[in-house]
Amino acid sequence: MTAAPTTPPATDPRHALVLFSGGQDSTVCLAWALSRFARVETLGFDYGQRHRIELDCRLTVRTELARQFPQWAARLGDDHLLDLSVLGQISDTALTSGRAIELQANGLPNTFVPGRNLMFLNFAAALAYRRGASVLVGGMCETDYSGYPDCRDNTLKALQVALSLGLDAPMTVETPLMFLTKADTWALSESLGGAALNELIVVHTHTCYLGERGQLHAWGHGCGHCPACALRANGHAAWLARTPSENP
Ligand code: ZN
Repeated sequence: MTAAPTTPPATDPRHALVLFSGGQDSTVCLAWALSRFARVETLGFDYGQRHRIELDCRLTVRTELARQFPQWAARLGDDHLLDLSVLGQISDTALTSGRAIELQANGLPNTFVPGRNLMFLNFAAALAYRRGASVLVGGMCETDYSGYPDCRDNTLKALQVALSLGLDAPMTVETPLMFLTKADTWALSESLGGAALNELIVVHTHTCYLGERGQLHAWGHGCGHCPACALRANGHAAWLARTPSENP
């Protein structure tokens, strides 16, 4: 009798909760977690995004990861979606016009919700505690988003200490993309899941600020012109230029 394929032993017995939006960065974070931790659950936030396409992409990406990577399927646990529509009351610039002008002078967009990632991680930590997870994984990154102070490495290290003290339980905040460029992120996903993972990311994840799926470019779906599309397209082009022999 042929033995069923077994899942290779995870390198880390802890359970992780990944902040998973359905975009490129959080999909790479999910693959990173699945390659390390014994069990991995996912968490999305519904905060009244202008476009719900990214939320719709979440479940497709999870399904495709489990289908194409059987070694990860056994570790992939439940998905959670929290309603944080209350954030809409804070992001409404009509209510905070004085401060909004100041924020815009700092170069941040007027949809900026101050400390949004801190709120997300606090909710994630409470859920992780209830689910028996002691690692939070997020795609926060200093390299491309230096305008967001709550994405900084020291901000999140301080929050890790506060969460662990406040919960009286170890809660590690992992940010595998913190010091990576967008080109580095493509290289990381290739190292984790080869060309198949990068193809999955190109076809099934979402990035476009305008909510367009439309045409499939080499780097994925999107309008091709908004800041999110430009960032992703430029990163993909830089990655291709870095490894021309492997990427025709
Ligand atoms: Zn776009």
